[in-house]
Amino acid sequence: MPILVMKFGGTSVATLDKIKRAAKRVGREVANGYDVIVVVSAMSGETNKLVSYVNETSPMYDAREYDAVVSSGENVTAGLMALTLQEMDVPARSWQGWQVPLKTNSSHGAARIEEIPTDNILAKFGEGMKVAVVAGFQGISPEGRITTLGRGGSDTTAVAFAAAFDADRCDIYTDVDGVYTTDPRIESKASKLEKIAFEEMLELASLGAKVLQTRSVELAMRYGVRLRVLSSFEEYDPNAGTLICAEEDIVENKPVSGIAASREEAKMTLLSVADRPGIAASIFGPLAEAGVNVDMIIQNISEEGRTDMTFSCPVDQVNRAKAALDAARDRGEFNFGELISDTEVAKISLVGIGMRSQSGVAAKMFKVLSDEGINIKVIATSEIKISVLVDRKYTELAVQALHDAFELDKS
Ligand code: ADP
Ligand code: ASP
Ligand code: MG
Repeated sequence: MPILVMKFGGTSVATLDKIKRAAKRVGREVANGYDVIVVVSAMSGETNKLVSYVNETSPMYDAREYDAVVSSGENVTAGLMALTLQEMDVPARSWQGWQVPLKTNSSHGAARIEEIPTDNILAKFGEGMKVAVVAGFQGISPEGRITTLGRGGSDTTAVAFAAAFDADRCDIYTDVDGVYTTDPRIESKASKLEKIAFEEMLELASLGAKVLQTRSVELAMRYGVRLRVLSSFEEYDPNAGTLICAEEDIVENKPVSGIAASREEAKMTLLSVADRPGIAASIFGPLAEAGVNVDMIIQNISEEGRTDMTFSCPVDQVNRAKAALDAARDRGEFNFGELISDTEVAKISLVGIGMRSQSGVAAKMFKVLSDEGINIKVIATSEIKISVLVDRKYTELAVQALHDAFELDKS
């Protein structure tokens, strides 16, 4: 039997009624002749609640116990989905990560998948089971402890299962009917994309479009998984949603395919550091060791042998970054005048594979922002993206103005 992976996000399993609705979709694919692996998230809001319980109980928590707590939301929905399918006379059984076992490394809170043995589930399919319901987001470490894959990690569970079981397709059911030119919650004129290239989706996801976890796109690209994003609330349509596919399958390359916004950014500047060989290594080495995800970096021109170094990182890592830099200074590794942090910034990014061949995108972006009176604080570019940091209060305005200027409502 061909295998299909269907992933239902938090909003799609938020109530018993919604689980029933999702189960009906699963039943339809079983009737179409598939053995189905269903990956479920926790009910929407549940994981946030569990994270807040952990933070309240232990601000400097033990990451192994964080995982023990926050993985539990998915256990509930997996069992309920299996029961709902059984009530519909569809032979189904649930699996928690450790039962598969979905083997990961030991990076608690952001674990990476290492192996998914298929024998256990395939044997059950062989005995007539039609649906394996898998709790998303969780796995087991080499030490035998529960791990989680980072927020939004059920997407990655789904794609990894699709790759391991050589599934025909991996369908990600969510609360929007596909991938849009930008977050439809920010710009109501955002339009749905029929297809988007893996590379573009990878950039959009890593730059803040949380519709798919970045790692899931990486895996789909590496293993050639046919990945589709679609709504669990719309009527059944076999061609619905957005297909994430290889670049060659996309006919038209507009310069900009989508806009991502990430609000939770911070900008940090080290004033007056010595401009000498090795200075960048001595600043960013300790930051990396402290687990700070540095993104954009600018080094100013130097005056009298001293310069300023600016970088961006997620806003919730500012204290960790400060502590790492102060400690490195105290150890005498380097010196700086002052450390200034701006925690009220957002990153706005334009993404498109068409940028490789079309010039003028950056100039147009800067002009649009200046016409709106929005000051650009930091700029970073790569082959298929341009990102800027701006004051957070301009997030919506910047996205909407750029969406208009690049005519993305006509995608
Ligand atoms: P789920 O719980 O199903 O995993 P998420 O909340 O993680 O759903 O992701 C879906 C949300 O992603 C949408 O509601 C939408 O607000 C947001 N989103 C951000 N950028 C985009 C985009 N470019 N296209 C579609 N949705 C986007
Ligand atoms: N429930 C987890 C989260 O909210 C995983 C997921 O939904 O993908 O991050
Ligand atoms: Mg998600």
